Amino acid sequence: MRFRLRSEIADVIRGLDGSQRLEEICEVHGASVSQVSHLMEVLHERCAVEPRAVRDTIDATEHYRVLNFLGDYFPAAELFAAFERLRSTRVAILGCGAVGSWTAVQLAHSGLENFTVIDGDQVEESNLNRSIFLHEDIGQPKVKAISSALHRISQRVRVRRVKENVCDADGLRALLSEARPDVIVNCADEPSVDLTSEWINEYCQDRRVPYVIAGGYNLHLSLIGMTVSPGVSACINCSRITLDELEDESLQGVRRLWRPKRNLGSLSPLTGITSSLAASEVLRLAVKSDRLRPAMWNRRGEFNFLTNELSFVDLAPRPECGCTAESIRS
Ligand SMILES: [Zn+2]
Repeated sequence: MRFRLRSEIADVIRGLDGSQRLEEICEVHGASVSQVSHLMEVLHERCAVEPRAVRDTIDATEHYRVLNFLGDYFPAAELFAAFERLRSTRVAILGCGAVGSWTAVQLAHSGLENFTVIDGDQVEESNLNRSIFLHEDIGQPKVKAISSALHRISQRVRVRRVKENVCDADGLRALLSEARPDVIVNCADEPSVDLTSEWINEYCQDRRVPYVIAGGYNLHLSLIGMTVSPGVSACINCSRITLDELEDESLQGVRRLWRPKRNLGSLSPLTGITSSLAASEVLRLAVKSDRLRPAMWNRRGEFNFLTNELSFVDLAPRPECGCTAESIRS
């Protein structure tokens, strides 16, 4: 299919360099103010034009690159409100290892200012191959090292540091009730991702707090976890029902390889991929708009280091779980 822009509209668009007022454009092209206003409304809604004053304001802000990025999805009239929602989002990161530390840094780069970081461990030399930590951080609590890194990115960042290993649902509930996060990211693999995700789900479902299961890494695969908006998307329990069924089918007659306390290898690029996708999900949740919806609702992904392929498993809400709006209505 081929298209041709009508020449009178092309002339108006060519003149949109920010130097002329609407009335002047109309006068030059002999168009009515209502016609050109309507054209501008359409272009503005589709993020193709912005008022000159908005451009000047964006250029004067510290985060103008982030605002420019969001400006491709939010029209100028909504842009600053969207960034303000992002900036003021309180995010809690459970587990501050490789994935947690990179996720925190990327969120601070993107303009988030309110963090709660939860981890009871100290930085060890063995962490340095895949996290943000440096030699000088060895021996320090991870939450302290992360806090310092975030403050180096922005002086406005506020970090609530919780140097604690969470051991049960009650402990986590108490911590989160105090921090009152708007979004939670699970980057904890102790005692296990399944258990910590279950505790987070328990806290979040009643309070309608969204959460991101960041995922992890195993051999040549990076696991990209799911994003859950309670009442809207499948929860961790829905996913378990589906995954159990899939495992039953795919593992029939197959003996699992299992070596207890196996010393797994790890590679920074793979943790980077998992944390980048987790941070992207937090940003989508933080702007709270249908213009940028989470990409990991109702699915989980796997990145393959050997092939660079990214594959997904669909994890639709399960009515028998009873957690989504559809199942509540039925
Ligand atoms: Zn569910």
